[in-house]
Amino acid sequence: MLIRVLSLASILFWSIVTSATEQHQELDVTSLSENVFLLTGERVGANVGVVITNEKVLLIDTLVNKHSEKLIKTIEKLTKHPVTHIVNTHGDFDHTGVNEHYRQLGALVIAQKNVSHSKVDCDLCFEDYLSIKLSDDVQVAMKSAVSHSFSDNIVYIPTANIVFMGDILTNISHPTFYQGGIAGFNKAISYAVSLGDENTKYVAGHGFTINAKQLENYLAVTKEIADFVVLNHGLGGNSEEILKNPKFNNLYAKLENKVSIQDTSPNRLKRFIDRIVATEISSDPQVYLGDYAGTYQWDDNEAFQLVHIDNKLLYKELGQRIIELIPVNKSKFMVRGQIGRYYQFSFDDRGSIDSMTFVTSEKSRYVATPIVQ
Ligand SMILES: [Zn+2]
Repeated sequence: MLIRVLSLASILFWSIVTSATEQHQELDVTSLSENVFLLTGERVGANVGVVITNEKVLLIDTLVNKHSEKLIKTIEKLTKHPVTHIVNTHGDFDHTGVNEHYRQLGALVIAQKNVSHSKVDCDLCFEDYLSIKLSDDVQVAMKSAVSHSFSDNIVYIPTANIVFMGDILTNISHPTFYQGGIAGFNKAISYAVSLGDENTKYVAGHGFTINAKQLENYLAVTKEIADFVVLNHGLGGNSEEILKNPKFNNLYAKLENKVSIQDTSPNRLKRFIDRIVATEISSDPQVYLGDYAGTYQWDDNEAFQLVHIDNKLLYKELGQRIIELIPVNKSKFMVRGQIGRYYQFSFDDRGSIDSMTFVTSEKSRYVATPIVQ
């Protein structure tokens, strides 16, 4: 009897699960122009763009890997042509998860060169700008940027008047300019605005499509929020006090983002404020960054480089990460945009670096030593 009850319960359970998954086996398709489509879905995270010509199909981003089936099915329904190109708006896993599937089938993966410091393998990696001809009348142009990440790529399709912004534009939660700071964010959005006109469609990496006027508002309000946070933090305010200030909340409302309750929870907003502070942190002008450049090796033998470029010190580890280190003094360097992580340098008697220690809030410590060549 017990067995029967259990099996009936399990049959009921499985029928519920099946009908729920059947409903969500494909993504929603929105037509942005004659041959450009936007794929979205509830709880799939990022957006996907599809450009279809007479014989070729180009995808802009490929979701997380666990949604591969949904993506593949939706594209098969949309077109009989094979996916020939994948363009990534940056190297994060939630935009590149199905790259390899299409790559194995012959698609060319195109990305900005800094994706080499992530898990993405690109076949055509460009430094600053690239334009490809997909057909006689469809051109796809790409421009590198540093705003959300070091591998940001603004993708523009002139004939359709559409710009895919990647995570430079995230209007379903708050803005995330954690690698480029406000300066990089400003540069990226100003470039995107310069491409278009009042009819251009700007597609978010996460969220919804907006026009140039809305994009300019997104930039202006974000700048105001960052200025407000930095000023109040400098005056001694902490993130809790800043969050309680009605001015912060009024500014946040002016962003016109469609946020879920979860995204406006005090914890999420407090973290947003803390990350603005960590992004806009000012460096100690007395520290000469060139003194830190070189090749280093962690105690597990993994090597990385500190590169001094454009008055920045970049940490570059192939296949792993690229981040900017900001000196608060000669021996302590914060990670731009990250909370509670820093690198501590120690020096020998002659003043040369003899070790670099990574310290996180979880109290873990990893020690690296410079490799003398
Ligand atoms: Zn993302």
